[in-house]
Amino acid sequence: SVKGNYLRRCAYYTDDLRSSLLREQEVVREMSQALEEGQFVPWLQPQYNHATGRIAGAEALARWEHPVRGLIPTGGFIPIFEKNGFISKLDESIWEQVCRLLRRWLDEGRPVVPISVNISRVDIYNPKLESILTGLVKKYDIPISLFRLEITESACVENPAQLIKVISSLRERGFFIEMDDFGSGYSSLNSLKDMPIDLVKLDLKFLLGDDEYQRGGNILASVVRMTKWLSLPAIAEGVETAAQADFLKSIGCNLVQGYLYARPMPVGDFEALLDASSLDTEQLVKKSENII
Ligand code: C2E
Ligand code: MG
Ligand code: MG
Ligand code: MG
Repeated sequence: SVKGNYLRRCAYYTDDLRSSLLREQEVVREMSQALEEGQFVPWLQPQYNHATGRIAGAEALARWEHPVRGLIPTGGFIPIFEKNGFISKLDESIWEQVCRLLRRWLDEGRPVVPISVNISRVDIYNPKLESILTGLVKKYDIPISLFRLEITESACVENPAQLIKVISSLRERGFFIEMDDFGSGYSSLNSLKDMPIDLVKLDLKFLLGDDEYQRGGNILASVVRMTKWLSLPAIAEGVETAAQADFLKSIGCNLVQGYLYARPMPVGDFEALLDASSLDTEQLVKKSENII
């Protein structure tokens, strides 16, 4: 009956809700120990310069390597940690692991590319943010240009004044600041105009949507032209198809990151890839001297 179906559907919904609440409680119960045991690790996704076909850098993406449940996708823990504040601890751990990794590459004389880490919108309000970041760069004694910071565009909407203050101060220290997920927020043009940044990450998921070659394509082309007028380096993220890559080439957007080229991978795999590739880090290294 109709009523029976309706009730059954409600039962499914409550089951879903109950299991997602249980999962959330489990995540919260396990997170501190997981951090202590080193279950949160950075994976690396290469970024390419497709004018030269070479690796230009990498983005560090947190992964939860759970001893029982296997690899937990970011959607299963990042939003929960942003809600309860634990994200600051996770981020600090990822940043430190990345700094340690860069130090090891330098010590071992291995090929080195700059790595970008994600800064949560929550971290923007942490008064210790700058001292934590400068502390890490000093502790591991790495060139600041190798350790880049990504801040999501949607954080601009929440409190642009605070964000400008934080970013300006980090840039004065010499940090390279990237605006992540450009196109996902609703302040896009203002954020390009007002935010003191070194690079913008164009999110194809938002800028192109399903409308690749009509409005989406025109918008993407306009944004790329605008970044050139502003002398602001840009990288396209979420590049999945050869058609997208060709389109990006045709509009002069040379820095790319996406499944078409490579998925995020464990550090060891990335090192093997670096060993086998030629590098082109020119555009992703800040021209200024170390300040810090
Ligand atoms: P994001 O910073 O924009 O990172 C890019 C996301 O897009 C990553 O998802 C990456 O795996 C995925 N991606 C890369 N290429 C493609 C593609 O061609 N197609 C599609 N559909 N996706 C692609 P991931 O690793 O699941 O991370 C999701 C989000 O979680 C990140 O988005 C970032 O906002 C957040 N996140 C990840 N790691 C950290 C971290 O260490 N700290 C903080 N605060 N947030 C993090
Ligand atoms: Mg990012
Ligand atoms: Mg992004
Ligand atoms: Mg994103």
